[in-house]
Amino acid sequence: MKPRTSHVHKWGDLSCPQPSSGEVAGYAPNASLADLDIAVAAAQAAFKTWSKLSSDELQAYCEKVATTIGEHAEELAVLITKEQGKPLNGLGSRWELGGAQAWAGYSASLSLPVKILQDNNEGHVELHRKPLGVVGSITPWNFPVMIAIWHIMPALRTGNTVVVKPSPLTPLSTIRLGEIMSEVLPSGVVNVVTGDDKALNLGAAMSAHTGIRKIVFTGSCATGQKVMQSAAETMKRLTLEMGGNDAGIVLPDADPKAIAEGLFWGAFINNGQTCAAMKRLYVHDSIYDEVCENLVAFAKNIPVGDGMNEDSVLGPIQNAMQFDKVRRLVDAGESEGRVLLGGVPGEGLFFPPTIIADLSQDNLLVTEEQFGPVLPVIRYTDVEKAIAAANDSNNGLGGSIWTSDIEKGRELAKRMECGSVWINKHGAIQPNAPFGGVKQSGLGVEFGEEGLAEYTDIQVIFS
Ligand code: NAD
Repeated sequence: MKPRTSHVHKWGDLSCPQPSSGEVAGYAPNASLADLDIAVAAAQAAFKTWSKLSSDELQAYCEKVATTIGEHAEELAVLITKEQGKPLNGLGSRWELGGAQAWAGYSASLSLPVKILQDNNEGHVELHRKPLGVVGSITPWNFPVMIAIWHIMPALRTGNTVVVKPSPLTPLSTIRLGEIMSEVLPSGVVNVVTGDDKALNLGAAMSAHTGIRKIVFTGSCATGQKVMQSAAETMKRLTLEMGGNDAGIVLPDADPKAIAEGLFWGAFINNGQTCAAMKRLYVHDSIYDEVCENLVAFAKNIPVGDGMNEDSVLGPIQNAMQFDKVRRLVDAGESEGRVLLGGVPGEGLFFPPTIIADLSQDNLLVTEEQFGPVLPVIRYTDVEKAIAAANDSNNGLGGSIWTSDIEKGRELAKRMECGSVWINKHGAIQPNAPFGGVKQSGLGVEFGEEGLAEYTDIQVIFS
């Protein structure tokens, strides 16, 4: 299947294998630097009129985008399942599309009206929020459409135009998303460029491009650091959403049976390929065995298979590089701990949900972000030490406390060094709550008014 083309691109040889079977899901253009320049120029030209629209007009356009995403949801979900691997069902591609539509609709409803800072005999001072210009969006392969929406919608709502570059591993759904959006938006407001990151690294070129005012990036810490370096010369505004190594801490008063399902999905949503998934689980010694038993009992019934099969709840790992990383970290876990479930790779890129107990804090499976379907479980006896171990990381995206005493959970949450903390759940995000990492997990936030403000310059007018 070849998606329809846009005028900017030639169809190159970027072929996208289906993670489930290895068969080709489709082809995408391998853009040149000249293609990128054309896309940026189109966005700059569109900015001249788009940025002059009133807040109500921008809102109306964004609402149309939300509606059209809803109308094309099934088509986009199928494309995601084919190129990304996640199932249509469960918390898979249809769920991703539901999220994309919800975020698009909510972003449309937000606004940043002029603030009057002072109005008295001594003067009148107003704070205005102005669009930046062209925003470059660089997205990863785990939630290709939802993350593109997180980047694009607040940019549009605040009067910016966009060039979006998906991961070379999942370009097809973003190309189609760009086409669908362009049917309801003026020409040049949203532009998609794709490439294979080989001869030309498009993301690096965007980060250094003089025509782009801001980069919003979601991806690994290592790449985020490169974006920051490339962006320095042009002083770009940056929002960086990077990796996490989120810890969950189960307190002795938690109910092992009641929390098993939440623990599982906190760790294994999207096959663990989720920035704010739970990647290390610390469980108090007094209920350790019971928590492990209940978690395994829930996990072993999860059907894993081809995402196009309506019965599958988890699919394959998205790509070979990630598969190898997961296998390497499972090996490290196995060398020290007890494999409670899984551990043996399936066919192709399939890897079963894997749970490994009795690991120490310095095991590679605990210290590195696995970004796949494996969870290390670490035993602790002293809550203070568990908090210290959870915070012993350069990352600080999310964390969770599992307890029957919500107040105690809230108190401990304040001591977690991360941008979001959940009590008795993990990874739940919503469009009105700012989301972002501390320490090396990121810079800035997305969502809500705080996220929207990151797509603007402040101008203060004194009179
Ligand atoms: P990645 O860093 O390999 O790639 C992300 C994007 O950056 C891709 O589009 C890629 O083509 C592009 N890129 C590659 N080199 C670049 C360069 N030099 N300059 C600019 N862009 C460049 O990440 P990935 O493997 O696609 O995604 C997995 C990682 O993303 C994990 O670490 C995960 O935790 C993180 N992630 C974070 C969030 C979040 O919100 N914090 C969300 C999803 C994923």
